[in-house]
Amino acid sequence: MTKNPTENRTGRLAHLDVLISGAGVAGPTLALGLARYGARVTVVEKAPDLREGGFPVDFRGQVHRTVLTSMGIWDEIHARQTHMGPQTVVDADGTPRVELPAEMMSGDVEILRGDLARIMYERTSDRVEYVFGDSIATLGESPDGVDVTFERGAPRRFDLVVGADGLHSLTRRLVFGDESRHLRFLDHYVAAFSIPNHLGLDRVGRLYSEPGRAVAIGNYDGEPDRSGALLVFRSKRLEFDRRDMAAQKRILAERFAGMSWEAPRVLKALEGADDLYFDAIAQIHVDRLTQGRVALLGDAGYGATMGGMGTGVAIVAAYVLAGELALAGGDHRTAFAEYENRIRDFAKGCQKISGNAGPFFAPATERRIRGRDLMYRLLSSRPLAGFFRRLTEKAATGIELRDYPRP
Ligand SMILES: Cc1cc2nc3c(=O)[nH]c(=O)nc-3n(C[C@H](O)[C@H](O)[C@H](O)COP(=O)(O)OP(=O)(O)OC[C@H]3O[C@@H](n4cnc5c(N)ncnc54)[C@H](O)[C@@H]3O)c2cc1C
Repeated sequence: MTKNPTENRTGRLAHLDVLISGAGVAGPTLALGLARYGARVTVVEKAPDLREGGFPVDFRGQVHRTVLTSMGIWDEIHARQTHMGPQTVVDADGTPRVELPAEMMSGDVEILRGDLARIMYERTSDRVEYVFGDSIATLGESPDGVDVTFERGAPRRFDLVVGADGLHSLTRRLVFGDESRHLRFLDHYVAAFSIPNHLGLDRVGRLYSEPGRAVAIGNYDGEPDRSGALLVFRSKRLEFDRRDMAAQKRILAERFAGMSWEAPRVLKALEGADDLYFDAIAQIHVDRLTQGRVALLGDAGYGATMGGMGTGVAIVAAYVLAGELALAGGDHRTAFAEYENRIRDFAKGCQKISGNAGPFFAPATERRIRGRDLMYRLLSSRPLAGFFRRLTEKAATGIELRDYPRP
C-alpha cells in the first residue's frame, strides 16, 4: 500500500498496485508510464481483445513530441505514420470542390488509431497484467485501498484505480455519477470502419456531404486493397445498445439510404464490416477528475470524440499522471491534485476547438455546405493554413510539462 510520500522521492513506485479500466489508448499509455517507474499495473478491458479500429489520430507541436520521446515511442510512431496526402471535398459525381492540405488535417505525424493502440499494448504486455473480457463491477474505497469486484474475476484490492474506459466510462458512472450529468451531446454521430479500396486511392482522402450527412473515404496507410470509411450524420439523441453492432449497422443503413456518390458501396461494405466504431459526437465535462483513490483519464474525463485531439490529450495526461505519482513517491493526494491542476485547462482548451467537427463534415443545409467549402478554400490558402495550424497547435501545446524523475 502507499507509503509515506517522504519515504520515496526517487520515482520508484514498486510499492504501488494500480488498476486501470480500459485498454484503449489512454489506459496502456498510463500503464507504460507507471510500469517504467516499477508500479504493479493491471489493465482490465471489457472487449475480448485489443480494439484496433478507428480512424487516424495525429500529434502536433512540441508537447506531444516531448511526451512521446520521453516515453520512448516517438520513433516507432514515426516509423508507422500514415504519410497521408490531401483530402478533397467532392461533388456527387466525384468532381473536386476543395482540397484540404495534409498539413491542416494530419498534424506533424499521423498514425492509425489501431496501430497506436497496438504499439502501446506491445510495449507493456510483458510487464503489465492485461485482463480481457472482464469489467469492474463495484468499487469500494477504504483508507488503505480500493476493493474491487469484477464481473468475472475474483475480487482484489488496489492502491489506486484509474478509469480510462472511454466516453461512456463505467468508472466515472460508479464514482462520479450518471453519464447524463457529464456527457454533452453535440447533435451528431460518427461511424468508422474498413472498406475495400473501391476508388483505388493511395494515401489521399475524399469527402462528400449532403445536408446533415457525410461520407469520407481515405486510404491512410497505402494498403492497396483497403480504405477507411467515416460516416457522420446530424441527429437527435438515439437510444441503442452499444454492444449490438447489427443494430448500429441498421441505424446507419437507414440514415444513409438514398445518398449519392459512394454511399451505396460504402453501405454494402458496412454489412460485412467487423471493426465498426459508432458513437455520438460528444464531450465529457466533469467537476473533478479525481476522487479519493480514483482518477479519470482520457475520454472518460474530458473526451471530445472528434477533432479535439482526444488521443493527444490522453497521452499527455497519462504521462503527467504517471510523472506526478513518481514525483510524489506514490502519494496519490499530492499527485492527483497536481494532475487535476495541470490537465484540466489543457483538456478544456483542446475540447474548445473540437465542437465543430459534426457541422464541418455534415453541414445542416446545402447553403452551409457551400459556405463551408468557401471557408475552407480560403483556409487552405497558404497564409490561412498556417493560421489554422497555429490555432490547433496552440491548444495542443497549452500545458507546461514538469521535469519528472527519469524512470
Ligand atoms: C475501437 C475504437 C475506435 C475509435 N475510433 C475513433 C475514430 O475513428 N475517431 C475518433 O475521433 N475517435 C475514435 N475513438 C476514440 C479515441 O480512441 C479516443 O478519443 C482517444 O484515443 C482517447 O482514448 P481513450 O483510451 O481515452 O478511449 P478509448 O480509445 O475509447 O478506449 C476506452 C477503452 O475502454 C474500454 N472499456 C469501456 N468500458 C469498459 C469497462 N466497463 N471495463 C473495461 N474496459 C472498458 C473500451 O472497450 C476501450 O477499449 C475510437 C475508440 C475505439 C475504442
